[in-house]
Amino acid sequence: MKKCPFCAEDIQDAAIKCKHCGEFLDASNPRQLPEEKPQWYFRKSFIVFAVCSVGPLALPLIWWRPQTPRAWKIGLTAGILVLSWILFQTTMESIHTIKEYYNLIEGL
Ligand SMILES: [Zn+2]
Repeated sequence: MKKCPFCAEDIQDAAIKCKHCGEFLDASNPRQLPEEKPQWYFRKSFIVFAVCSVGPLALPLIWWRPQTPRAWKIGLTAGILVLSWILFQTTMESIHTIKEYYNLIEGL
């Protein structure tokens, strides 16, 4: 079933003429065109993979993806940035700790 673009009544998918309002359903009507398939680099699995491997560098993919709602883009961006920041801080801290250990060893 689909909706008639003229009267919004439910009609058969294969209908060429609406039984409710009598309008002919033009095949060139953009409503009836099948949705465009997303490009491979806009697939969810690829974006997840990209975020996991390059982190914030994958953000443009999320922003360029036409199917992603705006709220999701903002939420994902914030989430990824916070995660990267935490990871960065953790890395810096462990480097600092390692350096302190080396200083201790050298001082002995
Ligand atoms: Zn109709």
